[in-house]
Amino acid sequence: MTDQDIVFLKELVEAPSPSGFEQPAQRIVRRELETLSHGLRTDVMGNVIARIDGRSASRPRVMMAGHCDEIGLMVKYIDENGFIFFAPIGGVDAHLVPGQRVNIHGRKGPVLGVVGKKPIHMTDPKERETVCPLKNQFIDIGCSGREDAADLVAVGDPGTFAVGMERLQGDRVISRAFDDKMGAFIVTRVAKQLAQRGGAPGDFHAVSTVQEEVGLRGATTSTYGIDPDVGIVVEVGHATDFPDVDKREIGQIEIGKGPVISRGPNINPALFALLVETAEAENIPFQVMAEARGTGTDANVMQLSRGGVATALIRIPLRYMHTPVEMLCLADLDATIDLLTAAVCRIDDAEMFIPV
Ligand SMILES: [Zn+2]
Repeated sequence: MTDQDIVFLKELVEAPSPSGFEQPAQRIVRRELETLSHGLRTDVMGNVIARIDGRSASRPRVMMAGHCDEIGLMVKYIDENGFIFFAPIGGVDAHLVPGQRVNIHGRKGPVLGVVGKKPIHMTDPKERETVCPLKNQFIDIGCSGREDAADLVAVGDPGTFAVGMERLQGDRVISRAFDDKMGAFIVTRVAKQLAQRGGAPGDFHAVSTVQEEVGLRGATTSTYGIDPDVGIVVEVGHATDFPDVDKREIGQIEIGKGPVISRGPNINPALFALLVETAEAENIPFQVMAEARGTGTDANVMQLSRGGVATALIRIPLRYMHTPVEMLCLADLDATIDLLTAAVCRIDDAEMFIPV
């Protein structure tokens, strides 16, 4: 990974993009795709779609998607003392919100606030053992009344945890929103590699999708619009290499051990085999995750679009999903970019994906 890649990844994960408010992240994605694509557009949902022309129009059309939305908060109500009550956007864990710094993205720019919490001294033992529901939590932006607060923050404004991307030891990095902006990052980098190689056999559509965290909504419309033969979704996947996780349930998945190729009914078996063969041929480490039903990812709606799409799901192992400290290894991103670029170059016949 080059320094330029790291700057781009950091910029992308730090840009606020809760579901429905993805424009700041999409502007960055568009900038990256502008020079290398043969057609770049943003659809009415906000999906950014870049086309890299293939060498033949009769070869399979491939769509690759990573979602650029992140979980977040939304302002619901400002009380007379200027305290802000909020709802979650997507799967926000109520356990870890109190005591956090948050940014509310108001019309004048980000407003820093904190999620207040009654001190432990004032909490009775029973309260300490229960989670405070999100609807009872509140943000304090330092204003003393509703009017002051309403000058900066409006009902419906989105919020994010006020944390950036940081490096720990080795190539381990943390951020609040690798899910799934690292997917959008990988998709743009695969597009770049393909453009440099003069395109894949067929047309390639790189898509930064929106509203995944609130019901796979951007992938639904963008897949329909693009009408691909083959679709590949790049997502995060649960690593199971930290305390208190049951490997018997998810399998053995470790960060730094390469991309995770999902297998199951949501995945076209020939496309799965193609990814495994490519990884083996290119000496790229990989892991396999068994997913016994439709996945909770964009791959689910992608596969079911129109008359069906040969779909694959590549996951990057991630610790602590949906927390402000999601952790991954940069080497896994590089390996995924290499694997996907090589795999797309091998897709030259749509018939090979008909399971017979
Ligand atoms: Zn995701």
